[in-house]
Amino acid sequence: MGKIIIVGTGFSGSILARKIAEDCGRKVEVIEKRPHIGGNMYDEYDEHGILVQRYGPHFLNTNKYFIIEFLEQYAELFPHDTKLLSFLDGRYVRLPFNFESVQQLVGPKKSESLLAKLRKAFYGRDRVPILELVDHEDKEISEFGTLLFEKAFRTYTSKMWGTDINKIDKYVLERVPMAMSYDERYLNKDFQYLPKKGFSEIFQNMLDHPNISLRLNTDAIEHIQFEENTVTYDGEKVELLVFTGPIDELLGYKYGSLPYRSLDIRYEYSEKNSVLPAEIISFPQAEGKTRSTEYRKIMYDDKEAVGSVVVTEYPLWYDKNAVVGNIPYYPVNTAESNELYMKYVHEAERYGNIVLCGRLAEYRYYNMDVCIEHALEKFEEVKQRLG
Ligand SMILES: Cc1cc2nc3c(=O)[nH]c(=O)nc-3n(C[C@H](O)[C@H](O)[C@H](O)COP(=O)(O)OP(=O)(O)OC[C@H]3O[C@@H](n4cnc5c(N)ncnc54)[C@H](O)[C@@H]3O)c2cc1C
Repeated sequence: MGKIIIVGTGFSGSILARKIAEDCGRKVEVIEKRPHIGGNMYDEYDEHGILVQRYGPHFLNTNKYFIIEFLEQYAELFPHDTKLLSFLDGRYVRLPFNFESVQQLVGPKKSESLLAKLRKAFYGRDRVPILELVDHEDKEISEFGTLLFEKAFRTYTSKMWGTDINKIDKYVLERVPMAMSYDERYLNKDFQYLPKKGFSEIFQNMLDHPNISLRLNTDAIEHIQFEENTVTYDGEKVELLVFTGPIDELLGYKYGSLPYRSLDIRYEYSEKNSVLPAEIISFPQAEGKTRSTEYRKIMYDDKEAVGSVVVTEYPLWYDKNAVVGNIPYYPVNTAESNELYMKYVHEAERYGNIVLCGRLAEYRYYNMDVCIEHALEKFEEVKQRLG
């Protein structure tokens, strides 16, 4: 038996570490290059007593209650419905677009017939992709869908993914829903929660196990060697390598770099206790930025907090060597990048003992609930391997 090495302490790495340590009774070495655990979910109380998520805001939402029960083993959660406003044409409009936003955007008088048509056309449906509105045979419905696309989604998508604005077409609306009611919840997932004391507590408790040893501030790539068909870590044979970082980096960019979007995340402290009219404001029309979040508004207990912090996200291309934008946040999945990714997968498969897990290693945008469920499924595979 050789070493079991787990690279990364986001949900993917931390869950696999805990399960291997606890259920298989095996010792695992967890390697993390950042000075803290939790990956992009890391949060901490700042000097003003405000719980700040350092890599942008994260909200837990799922239709599967076992995800909530799983996390509750490690920290206390509380129900929290995420609410957003969009800043459009100089005023705040409800997001998701719903019957209230119809009134706001076309005016109450004109909305009367449009609302009646929407109710009839989409009777019994909770949320409808905006693309269905755009493609609808009724002119009034279709014009409203097109208005949403032009005002709220074309520029936003271009900023988010770095794509030329003229190349953004209506198909981006395929998965963007409108609520066919006055429902204000941003997502219509059944279970929406946040941890009472922040996400970091979950990771601390998950990694707190006698079979887990953790090394922070360590770039695993500098210690991993590939020799013929074996993987070693600091010269010692590795029985199992669970890798949750960028796969192209692990394999020395042999076939070229995979594209990722990154974020420039800017913080602004205010002595006021409340700054924004909602916890998140989306800025589809503004230059550069996509959204701002006021962390104090999502805290379970803000009695100790003084003032407020607003965090604003500016998307940009990932560049490993840049001062800003050196964290890969979002894989950019295209036919070309997916093909490149598969070359790395085939290369990794040659060694027979590398398990790729998570958003970066699998080059897929996973929400945290999917990421958690997937890590638990991967563990079942790993258990078979470890015997
Ligand atoms: C801005 C943003 C907002 C999001 N908001 C939501 C949300 O509201 N709701 C939701 O459900 N999901 C959200 N997500 C998705 C969620 O963050 C992910 O599903 C989840 O964090 C992925 O976990 P992971 O373990 O796969 O990856 P990560 O959290 O990225 O963990 C990978 C870890 O590996 C480490 N690592 C990488 N390379 C090395 C190396 N060479 N050596 C050592 N360590 C290494 C990294 O430092 C990192 O800690 C959001 C994502 C982003 C980017």
